[in-house]
Amino acid sequence: MAMARPSHTTTSLSLVVVALVFHWCQFLFETVLEFRQRTAIRKPSPPAALRSIFDETWYKASQSYALDRWTYRLIHSVYSTFETHLVISYELMPRVWNACATWAAASTYAVTPTAKEVLASIAFVFLLTLVSVVKDAPWGAYATFVIEAKHGFNKQTVRLWLMDKVKGLGVACVLVPPIIAAVVASIRVFASSAYAVTLLWAVIMAFQLLMVFLYPNFIAPLFNKYDPIPEDSPLRADIVRLAEKVSYPLQKLYVVDGSKRSAHANAYLYGFGKNKRIVLYDTLIKGFAELNEEDEAAKDQDESRNNEHVCSVLAHELGHWNHSHVIKLMVMSSALLFAQLQGYGLIRDSSVLFEAFGYHDHAALPPKPVLIGLLLYQLFSVPVDAFLGFLSNLVSRAFEYQADQFARTLGYAKELAQSLLVLQQSEKGSLWMDSWYGAYHSSHPEIAQRIDALGVVADSDKDFVQKLKRREVARRSGEDKKSA
Ligand SMILES: [Zn+2]
Repeated sequence: MAMARPSHTTTSLSLVVVALVFHWCQFLFETVLEFRQRTAIRKPSPPAALRSIFDETWYKASQSYALDRWTYRLIHSVYSTFETHLVISYELMPRVWNACATWAAASTYAVTPTAKEVLASIAFVFLLTLVSVVKDAPWGAYATFVIEAKHGFNKQTVRLWLMDKVKGLGVACVLVPPIIAAVVASIRVFASSAYAVTLLWAVIMAFQLLMVFLYPNFIAPLFNKYDPIPEDSPLRADIVRLAEKVSYPLQKLYVVDGSKRSAHANAYLYGFGKNKRIVLYDTLIKGFAELNEEDEAAKDQDESRNNEHVCSVLAHELGHWNHSHVIKLMVMSSALLFAQLQGYGLIRDSSVLFEAFGYHDHAALPPKPVLIGLLLYQLFSVPVDAFLGFLSNLVSRAFEYQADQFARTLGYAKELAQSLLVLQQSEKGSLWMDSWYGAYHSSHPEIAQRIDALGVVADSDKDFVQKLKRREVARRSGEDKKSA
């Protein structure tokens, strides 16, 4: 393409090459891990400790689900790696930025250069978000309506899926402009001071804390219905008793309608201080209830058994609270953010870097836009970010073991082990994980190791194993009926 642009110096060219090399190295490394994981998924039978629990039909189904997702991940990562390569080499982002800067420069809404930079940055993020929503839509639709549907997990309609996208964009329109304004302003106000980057860090932290309050109260209810568990239900009584036992200040107890999107199950504790809440997925409660459904005679007596399983999952979640895992993770991530922003501080005034990637100063705006500097910094922090991701998974897995041990000290070792098996069965989760792949990607240890660490022999309770097998047969015939 014959376009007049300032000729690249050797330094600027080599900066682009370094960024591309980082990018491709990450792709190659992660692809090697994916192929190792593929070998693990394809092992002919489950781990010895779980062999008597999961039959061949289930194991084949779990392999097929894992392999479908594997192929999808690989194709998506090849696509997005090439895409990023092209976006960098053809300087597509600078073109979009230039258009936004030219528009903001002429705009009468913003008078000062900083205000013009804020306006240009908001327009830039808005355009990129729109492009990525449209670009990602076919991928998301395929994952939901083909892969998840094929394996019996998708419960959402196309209409609900589209509504989610529209609501997501709506939330972004409200939240993004003030965040960007604060980010740009914090650097510009103290532009010449050494504290500018520290101020930026404080601003981002403040927004994160604000989100802890905003998310459960205003954002999550836009997407799901949170029903309080009725005061007189036995489940509530059991949960309250458990919370009292460990002095957890239980404020709010909800069931969320996760089933309207997918059959996957979950439970979590959220919030600080007076805002603390426990949220159970309806799919989680249903999953344990199915366990005793076929057993008519034992139904009444087993209502309490269902609750024991729900409580064992909560006992694990309470372990995270008891060990202050959320706070520890927040402190860790804020320290990392601080370090990363110091990295940005080192490059934020580098003309060579901005020029190398095709960003030229605009006369009406301050030089070296803040948002662009942050984007450029990210290109070079790829290896550090990958290493930090590995570290954070390492910590997360240690926390999972700790939370399991907390449940064990409360007397839920056996119930928790059983709950893990029930969830594994419903999720068709892969029973094998390659050690490298798990170390790099996985925030949770493998199920066989977790059960082992709980001091439980997976198939020791014959009655439970029978129930689990009956449940699987019932689920399978249900799926067959639906697909017929
Ligand atoms: Zn956990």
